[in-house]
This record gives sequence, C-alpha cells and structure tokens, in this order.
Amino acid sequence: MHYFDLKDGVLHAEGVSLEMLAAEVGTPTYVYSSATLRRHYGLLRDACDAHKDALGDALIAFAVKANSNLSVLATLAKLGCGADTVSEGEIRRALAAGVPGERIIFSGVGKTDAELAFAIDVGVRQINVESSAELERLILVAAEKSASPAIAIRVNPKIGAGGHAKITTGGAGDKFGVPVEEALSLYARASASPHVTPVGLACHIGSQITDLTPLENAFRVLRDMTETLRADGYSVTRLDLGGGLGVPYYGDAETASPADYAAMAARVLDGLDVEAAFEPGRLMAANAGVLLSRVIQVNERTDGRRFLVLDAAMNDLMRPALYDAFHDLKAVRPRDGDAIPYDVVGPVCETGDTFARDRDLPPFEAGDLVVFMSAGAYGAVMSGEYNTRPLAAEVLVDGARCAVIRPRPTYEQMFAREPMAEWLKG
Ligand SMILES: *Cc1c(COP(=O)(O)O)cnc(C)c1O
Repeated sequence: MHYFDLKDGVLHAEGVSLEMLAAEVGTPTYVYSSATLRRHYGLLRDACDAHKDALGDALIAFAVKANSNLSVLATLAKLGCGADTVSEGEIRRALAAGVPGERIIFSGVGKTDAELAFAIDVGVRQINVESSAELERLILVAAEKSASPAIAIRVNPKIGAGGHAKITTGGAGDKFGVPVEEALSLYARASASPHVTPVGLACHIGSQITDLTPLENAFRVLRDMTETLRADGYSVTRLDLGGGLGVPYYGDAETASPADYAAMAARVLDGLDVEAAFEPGRLMAANAGVLLSRVIQVNERTDGRRFLVLDAAMNDLMRPALYDAFHDLKAVRPRDGDAIPYDVVGPVCETGDTFARDRDLPPFEAGDLVVFMSAGAYGAVMSGEYNTRPLAAEVLVDGARCAVIRPRPTYEQMFAREPMAEWLKG
C-alpha cells in the first residue's frame, strides 16, 4: 500500500506532481510519502495493540539503517516509533530526530568501546550483545562508568531466511549472534556481573522474508530459551523479535501482513508475560519511497538491443547491482503504445550498472521521467558518489506540502570535503 498514484495522467506523491518536483529539484531524487510511512507504522501499531495480552506494550523500533534521513526518522518519532540502531552515528541521528533514548535499541556485530560508552552515556533502552567478546568488553566499559546497562543476548537460531543470501542473517554460518547453548551461558555470565543487566533475548534472522514460518520457528526458539532461563532462576522480561518482514516488490507478490505477523508472534509468546520489540525497516519504508529519474536517451542498437539510459545509476540505487533486486518501473506521464522490452541502465562505467534486462515497459523517449517503485528502504542510505556523481537529493511529501530533506550537493561542496595535501598546492 502506498500513496503514489496517477492524477490527470501524471504520477503524484500524495498531492504533489512528480513532474513538478523534477522541474524544481532535478533528478535523480528520492521522494518519500509521509502518509505511507504513517500508514505502515499505524498498521503494525494497531496489530501489536490488538495483542497486548501476549506482546505487552510492544516497542516498534524502526531499523534506522533502512532509511536514516532525519526528516523520515522525525516523521516516525512523532508517532511514538523507536529506533533500532547499529552505530553511534545512527544513535545520534535517532536522538537528533526526536527519538528518546528509552526507545533506542543498539544492535550490531562490531560495536567499538567508544560506541558502547556513548550508548551507555545517552541511556539507550537496551544494548543487544552479539558475542562473548563483546560482553566482556561491555562489562569493562560499563564498570569504568559504574553503570549497568540493560542488555539482551542476540541468539543465532540457525534459521536463516530472506530474499537473498546477502541479506540472510540467522543461518548457522552467518556472523550474527551466538548459538542457543552459548546464549544461555552468556546470560548466566551477564547475570553474575554487576555491570550489565540482562533483560532478555533478541534475534533477527534476515530481511525480505515473505513467509512467516521461519520467523515463527525462530520466535519459538526464544520462547523455549526464556522458559529454560527462568527455570534456572534468571529474569527474562523482554524479547526482541527483530525485523525482516518482506514487502511486495512485484505488483502481485504475496507477503504476510503486519496483522498476521503480530498475531503469529502473539500466539508464540502467549502466556509468557514478556514485553515484545519489533525492528521493522523495509516494512516501514520501502513502499514509502520512489527514486525519480529522467531518461537521458534511448540507445537502439543494430543488434536489436534497446537500452533505456537513465540519469540514475548504481551509485544512487545499489540494490539491483548488490542483490539482483527487482524494482518496478513506472512512467511519470505514461505514453500510449504497447509495451516493448528495454534494458534499463545508468551511465556508470560498469556493466553492473544495469537495473533491469528485457523489461517490458511502455514506450519512453529522451527527457521522459521514470520512477523506481519501492525504493524507500536501503536506497538513499546506500548511495554514494562513484563516478563523481553528486548524491541524489531527497524530498519528503506530506499531503500538498513538500520539502527538500537532503539537497543535492554542488561540485564545490563535494570538492571542499577533500582538502588538498599541503605539498601539492599552488
Ligand atoms: C537490518 C536489521 C533490521 C531490519 O531489517 P528489515 O528487513 O529492514 O526489517 C532489524 N534488526 C536488525 C538487528 C537489523 O540488522
């Protein structure tokens, strides 16, 4: 569900014409819909609230890495949404956007001592510990401050899932978390230290998961572990169920709904008396954003291949090059005519800079505008300036209002970030 629709033959983001936006802000530009962000948060919030008996006052902590723009985070923060963060920078962004420390979870495989110290200082809700080595470092960092931060142990349940091997995180060989037996002994170790306060367990098994079965199996592992720990006399009050729920990238794709997801979690945790946390990233943001781009030209080769050359490239949207990801493509002002096959490419000097092969699309001409649908998650956050292409701009729409929330840098601004070595000047 999203709010990008044709009005009078032109694609709009809520009340704002994308043709108008392209003229004002240029291309390539990410455009986000506030109403879509709010709708997605609201659906999951309502689904959780319908199961308060089993999920407690569930925290929904948006995975900041999916879309870390301050205005996007602030839109969600105003609804009461928390933040799942994986670096000091993301904690700082969440705080700057108005997410209170008590709604911030700090996750990640390789947190430095300085980052752990920062998280303690700002009072995050919970630090998810992913290894024995990290637990020992955290205890030392916290002891130095005479602190005792709340922690959860991240379990690797040996259940990997997700839309691509590179975004599967819960498989036995994946770098995330510790196996069940080790998690139980880390919990005991943590309980014996005055410098950490173990409150629960966490898992996150992958991303773009469209079937609830692997998630349900992982949640059952957490439930069994909770019962084991309690039988041994330990207190377990929170279960962090991670993110990972997929979104329909294809028009007719089937994905589990937030309501089914929350109902499944409630079924698994029923009677356990814990407070659940969810860390959705893609589910909140993917369909709330598009990447707006202009056709530079159409290359019709004599060998019959037809290339749609866009002014957006792999540096702006990496997902197709990185994970063979599919993005639906739409014309901003669709022309009449039958669909014909295009190879859709950017101008970067790598063959990997190909968004789609043999994609049947309505006819395009040079200068036409096109959007990549479902680009609001893992899009702008991964963008870079390869080939000295300025970072794509970002725009937030809210009804009839719109604001540039990350301006495209000028070349002067780009070069100013690279002070010339003293001896090379002049
Ligand atoms: C990436 C990540 C998420 C979010 O994953 P989505 O698939 O975007 O929902 C949640 N939790 C952790 C620990 C993550 O690393």
